Amino acid sequence: MKKLILLYIVFYIGMSTLLITCASKQRQVNREHNKITRQIIKKATPVFVDYQAQKYVLEFYKEAESRGIRTEVIKENIDDIIFYPLEQGYYGFYSPQNRQVVINVVYANDSIILKKVLYHELGHVFGKFHTFSGVMQTGLYPKTIHSRYSPVSGGSNEQWEIDKEVLWESILKNLDKSK
Ligand SMILES: [Zn+2]
Repeated sequence: MKKLILLYIVFYIGMSTLLITCASKQRQVNREHNKITRQIIKKATPVFVDYQAQKYVLEFYKEAESRGIRTEVIKENIDDIIFYPLEQGYYGFYSPQNRQVVINVVYANDSIILKKVLYHELGHVFGKFHTFSGVMQTGLYPKTIHSRYSPVSGGSNEQWEIDKEVLWESILKNLDKSK
């Protein structure tokens, strides 16, 4: 019986040590991963961007650059793009005073809403106002945004591409005027 208890204790200590080592290894890997991601995002976009928004912000940068649009405009106007719990019904906002783009955290995992809101707010950063349709349209229900851009809700990615193109053209027009 004593032997059994001893065996149990040894087994318990062994398992705990193993678990602790694994957990700290995983934490180290995560830390490394976060560090690398931060470096990449910092190099590409000199503003702080919350993890879940990075993919679309990078897309925005790439598309802007391929059209010859200065992405420095973003760095000059904002310091970070972050998620925050906002009142129900709010997707996000651009605050020139705080030099921030804030997105309602409830949409952090909704890629359709997230990309629309990000492009919309960055559109504001580039001086765009609201329009009656497309990316700069406001006051839409999440359902409506999904039915426009989400293939599983009757929308399409082509529609998203078309609406983005309209936004890019209007940003380009603005820049031409300011030259
Ligand atoms: Zn707006």
